[in-house]
Order: sequence, then C-alpha cells, then structure tokens
Amino acid sequence: RVKEKGKAHYQFYRSDKTQSFANIVSLETQLRKALERDEFILLYQPQVELRSGKIKSFEALIRWNSIEFGLVPPSEFIPLSEDTGLIIPIGNWVIEQACMQIKEWNDLRGEEITIAINISAKQFQQRTLVSTIKKAIQKFQINPSLLEIEITEGVMQDTAETAPILKSLKDLGISIAIDDFGTGYSSLNYLKSFPIDVLKVDQSFIRGIHNNDKDAAITTTIIHLANSLGMTVVAEGIEEKAQAKFLLNTNCDKGQGYFYSKPLSKIDIEQTIFNRPTKS
Ligand code: C2E
Ligand code: MG
Ligand code: MG
Ligand code: MG
Repeated sequence: RVKEKGKAHYQFYRSDKTQSFANIVSLETQLRKALERDEFILLYQPQVELRSGKIKSFEALIRWNSIEFGLVPPSEFIPLSEDTGLIIPIGNWVIEQACMQIKEWNDLRGEEITIAINISAKQFQQRTLVSTIKKAIQKFQINPSLLEIEITEGVMQDTAETAPILKSLKDLGISIAIDDFGTGYSSLNYLKSFPIDVLKVDQSFIRGIHNNDKDAAITTTIIHLANSLGMTVVAEGIEEKAQAKFLLNTNCDKGQGYFYSKPLSKIDIEQTIFNRPTKS
C-alpha cells in the first residue's frame, strides 16, 4: 500500500552540475537498491473518451515508493536514471509491469483496456527495446494493440535509426503515441513518414484553451490535423470543466487530467474507476 510520507519534495538531482559527485553516486546506489527491493510502482491515470465518457485506457506513470523519502515523482529520478543507464532496467520493469496489468485488467473486465507507457530517449535508442517489448507481450499473452508507447518529438529526431526502430515497434502491433506534442522540435514530416497512431496535445496548450486565443488556435489545429490523418488525439492536463467542454466541441477524442482523475494506484483504479457508473 502506498504511503505519502510528505518528504517527496526533497530535491534529489539536477541536470545542471551544481550537485556534488557524492550525492549523485549515493542516489544512483539508492536507485539500484530500489530496483532490487522492488520499490517502484506504477500509478495509472485514466484517459476519458470525451464523447461517451467511458474510460478504457490509462497512462502508466512511475513512482519510487521509498522507505526513506516517501513517494518520489519521476522528475526526481528519471533524469539521473537516463544519465547512468539505470533507465534500461527501470524501463524494462515498467514494460513488464504494464503488460502484466493489461493481462489482469482485460481478464477482469472482459473488454479492451489499453495502457500507455512512457519511453525515454535512452530506452528508444537501445537495440533490445523491441525484443524486450515482444517478450513481455508473449509472456503475458496480451493483444499487442492494447499496449501503447509514448515518445516525445525529441526522441524521434533525425537519426537514421529512428525510422527502422519505429517500424519494428509498429510491426509488433503496438500503438505509438507522440507525447507532449507541439513542445519539441517537431516536423510535420514525422507525421507523414513515421507510423504514429496517437497525438497527445501538451498540457501547456490545454491550460489556456478557454481564455487564450493562441492556445485555442494551436490546440484546434492539432486536433484537426490528427483527425484528418486518422490519428487519435488525446488532450493532457485538463483541470477545468471549461477546457473539457472546449475539447469535446473541437472533436478531441480523449482527455486526461486532474479534472477527471489524478494518477491512481492499481487498487484505487479497481475500486473507484471500474466500480462506478460511466461519467459523462
Ligand atoms: P508525461 O508523460 O507528459 O506525463 C504527464 C504528467 O502530467 C504526469 O506527471 C501527470 O501526473 C501530470 N498530470 C496529469 N494530469 C495533470 C493535470 O491535470 N495537471 C497537471 N499540472 N499535471 C497533470 P508525472 O507522473 O510526475 O510524470 C512526469 C513525467 O515523467 C512524464 O510526463 C514522463 O515524461 C515521465 N515519466 C513518468 N513515468 C515514466 C516511466 O515509466 N518511464 C519514463 N521513461 N518516463 C516516465
Ligand atoms: Mg506521457
Ligand atoms: Mg505528456
Ligand atoms: Mg511531459
């Protein structure tokens, strides 16, 4: 059971070089121990189908449930994990855990429940990513279309390997989403040449859609773009009813944000989301 200990505000790690070597080494050691002791957990944030109000998909978001520090958010340990290579075993754990959860929830619900996981640049560049995902899909005997991976625009940048990696991922039958769309270095050419299924409109645009003309115009354009390319479009960071209303009127497919639900533990999803009548 997850316990909030109120210490999660502790600043562990910065990518700027102000932290001492000793601190970084010590956090790295603690992250290794966290892996051994199985202290990582996934929270799941519901994605609401705006037209029906139904919830059939979730984004998995990692937390470190540390005895010493409490529930630590990814911003505090993902950057260091990337720099040290620890993101590979941590990411592999996320892949396995998500596939296991897809299996369990689909058996439980008898309907198609999708889980999206975040993949960082280091993971994407690893040769073994495709086979790791393939193995997890086989191990838990899940329909690959129920697993979605979220990558940012930065991850897809120009290298010659990007297209073949995306193609092999797509060949597995999984779904591919661009996360934080619109904030990175994006080229419309990506949308043309890469097998992208989902665009996630970044929360920075959603924040102002109901009172800022530019945010509204950008968001509307991304939604139209996704719709006309046959991609699913998800709005992130919806906190207010007015934003949800705007998005529904603009034909956005799905919404995610505190307005609907914060990221929840597996138990809380089962108790509060699966056991309540669908909300519209
Ligand atoms: P992201 O993938 O863009 O995830 C969205 C973040 O926004 C999450 O923060 C989520 O909790 C938060 N959020 C959701 N709804 C709202 C809202 O209405 N308002 C606001 N202000 N925030 C909202 P979180 O969980 O702290 O994750 C932060 C980032 O860490 C993620 O951004 C993702 O890039 C990364 N991350 C999370 N889990 C993993 C993981 O398993 N592997 C990797 N490689 N990265 C991960
Ligand atoms: Mg994401
Ligand atoms: Mg995002
Ligand atoms: Mg983000």
